[in-house]
Amino acid sequence: MKKFVLLFVLFILLLAVLGLSFYFSIQTQEEPDSSLSSGQSLPSSSQAPPSSSSSSQPEEPSSSPSSQSQSSVLSSSQGASSSSSGSAQNGVDYMMLVNVDHPLPADYTISTQEAANGLLMETTAAQALQRMFAAAQADGIRLMCVSGYRTVQRQTELFNAKVQEYLNLGYSQEGARTEAAKLVQIPGSSEHNSGLAADIVYEGYWNDYDDLYEDFENSSAFAWLDEHAHEYGFILRYPKDKTDITGISYEPWHYRYVGSPEQALEIKNSGLCLEEYVASR
Ligand SMILES: [Zn+2]
Repeated sequence: MKKFVLLFVLFILLLAVLGLSFYFSIQTQEEPDSSLSSGQSLPSSSQAPPSSSSSSQPEEPSSSPSSQSQSSVLSSSQGASSSSSGSAQNGVDYMMLVNVDHPLPADYTISTQEAANGLLMETTAAQALQRMFAAAQADGIRLMCVSGYRTVQRQTELFNAKVQEYLNLGYSQEGARTEAAKLVQIPGSSEHNSGLAADIVYEGYWNDYDDLYEDFENSSAFAWLDEHAHEYGFILRYPKDKTDITGISYEPWHYRYVGSPEQALEIKNSGLCLEEYVASR
């Protein structure tokens, strides 16, 4: 019986020790927490130390490396644009292939600005087109842009309208889509959706023609573009002898910005269309 009492006392003592240590551990843990969470009810003097220490801790170590990396990114991108050797700037890959096999994603977005005649293009491409138009004008050629950036959504509307025309003629859904795709490019697969392409003719073209015809290649405007477009980073995208590869009929009016005059010249000199050129790299 004495043994039992002794064990009981020891047990109580053990509980007391455990309880005390638990109490003190709670106390030490709680102190910084309570000063932060219930800081509003405390006088402002006790509020200041935790708030200043908590605000300086994340800011100081993170701000200096991030500002360093930002400036290094800036300087490296400035270097790339000044040498104009990189094909990817402003998050845009100016050498990207856009066609039926390589459609743009539905959420494709770019920064745009007016290129000419109220039409938009991707910002860098738009500025290059403006330089080209100014140079042409200095040579007595008045170019006119008749198609620029077209959103994927607009392309979808045009395509669906064309599909509907064929459905109304009694075509099946499959047949209507096949026929529509011959005249209107499938949404996302038109270069105009990329903001990097422009259809260019001359001022007064609509007095001579009611649509875009191959006959444009006989104009002095085409002769000028054929000779100078690459100097502004543009290539003739759908050449006459490459229709079986591009899948697009010859379009002497359709020009594509590829990022730099050097790049455009290299593609022009290669004699390859963009599909072939990209595959050859
Ligand atoms: Zn076009």
